[in-house]
Amino acid sequence: MIDFSFTEEQDLFREAIKEWLAKNMSLEQVRENDEKHELPKDIIKGMGDLGLLCMTLPEEHGGAGADWVTTTIAAEELGYADISVALPVFFLVQASWGYVVDKYCTDAVRDDCLRKAARGESFIGIGVTEPGGGSDVAAFKTNLKKTDDGWVMNGEKTYISGTAECQEIGGGYFVSGYNDRSKGHRGMTAVYMPLDAPGVEVTKRFDNFGRMAISTGGFKMTDVKVPEEYQIGETGRGFYLTMEGFDAARLLVSASCVGAAQRALELGVEYLKERQAFGQPLAMYQGIQFDLADMAAHHEAVKSLIYRTAWMIDQKYQNETFSALECAKYLSMCKYLAPHLALDTFRRVMYWFGAYGYSKECPLEMGLRGVMSYCIGAEGTSNVQKIVISRETIGRDWIRTQS
Ligand SMILES: Cc1cc2nc3c(=O)[nH]c(=O)nc-3n(C[C@H](O)[C@H](O)[C@H](O)COP(=O)(O)OP(=O)(O)OC[C@H]3O[C@@H](n4cnc5c(N)ncnc54)[C@H](O)[C@@H]3O)c2cc1C
Repeated sequence: MIDFSFTEEQDLFREAIKEWLAKNMSLEQVRENDEKHELPKDIIKGMGDLGLLCMTLPEEHGGAGADWVTTTIAAEELGYADISVALPVFFLVQASWGYVVDKYCTDAVRDDCLRKAARGESFIGIGVTEPGGGSDVAAFKTNLKKTDDGWVMNGEKTYISGTAECQEIGGGYFVSGYNDRSKGHRGMTAVYMPLDAPGVEVTKRFDNFGRMAISTGGFKMTDVKVPEEYQIGETGRGFYLTMEGFDAARLLVSASCVGAAQRALELGVEYLKERQAFGQPLAMYQGIQFDLADMAAHHEAVKSLIYRTAWMIDQKYQNETFSALECAKYLSMCKYLAPHLALDTFRRVMYWFGAYGYSKECPLEMGLRGVMSYCIGAEGTSNVQKIVISRETIGRDWIRTQS
């Protein structure tokens, strides 16, 4: 049997979030956030009140116990409303990494961070990338040294989303480092590290050119003491938990990009029907209709892949129908295709708008700048997605590793 329909509950959820976002996150509001470089506090609170923040966490841990298809709907609608993808970033980092932290953490981390994050009173982010590079996780320099009552951490993380927001409302990061380098990637351990812990220095806010309403920063860790109860998962499992977090995030990133691209297409079609050239609306020209058809077809294909993958993740967690590696391949396909599709859609629809498309009076440039962050690298670069896809297609024996 094959069934492509959403449940009635999922349809109602989509309607409700769409309506709330239409009221609270207009494109004018997105422009204001982009210019002020901040997300309105009442929006964050509203998302908490609606149960959207950390919605993947079980209800008994403060979340909404949402499945991945429903969470994907939220990510898509957030991208549709905020085409700059700043609000989606705030949502998806916490829904994905919060989920992995919650799955393996102690009640202390839940009480100190996750329950509050679900109300918008704290932030949980991901601190993986280092100044020496982000793709090669096993080459990281961050170290964890065991003490009688926990760990001492040294290292530096950079290009980290949400550092300013985390400083403002509190919270911390999933950080993984080496506790035993001789064991390779099996020698990494993950912890929850509060951003205000003694020894943590928030270094800077990067002057990015997109998704301006959410910060990207960095932090140095000098002899940061992390209590035993802040360890996430077993010692030596840090690398694997990092990969699990990336997988969850890649699904939601892809959905937000597709949501943003959908909005671009709709704005474009509206314009094509109004704008006249050579005595008729642009929409009447087959040259333009073919461009639209090409984008619409690719859009539907990628969207179907994303929801199919969300369904696979639900199956994996509910009855282990699919393995983690099978899911990783599909998640990388989504993360490879969706941001590029969105970038291409914004660019092509901007052409339809002519000169207006090149001005900031037109909202589309915010989308182009925003989704590009996901083409460049946030939650893994395109080449890294291709490495995963080819590895899981050809087989590991055929992948050349550096000696
Ligand atoms: C806006 C934004 C927000 C971000 N937020 C976070 C965050 O919250 N937390 C976090 O930890 N990180 C975050 N990042 C960092 C992101 O995860 C990294 O940019 C990404 O992992 C790539 O690392 P890098 O930039 O160091 O590039 P590198 O790893 O140095 O790669 C450079 C280039 O080389 C290519 N490359 C590398 N290895 C190979 C290979 N084996 N084969 C072929 N090509 C290869 C890459 O694809 C890329 O094109 C963010 C990045 C951006 C842009």
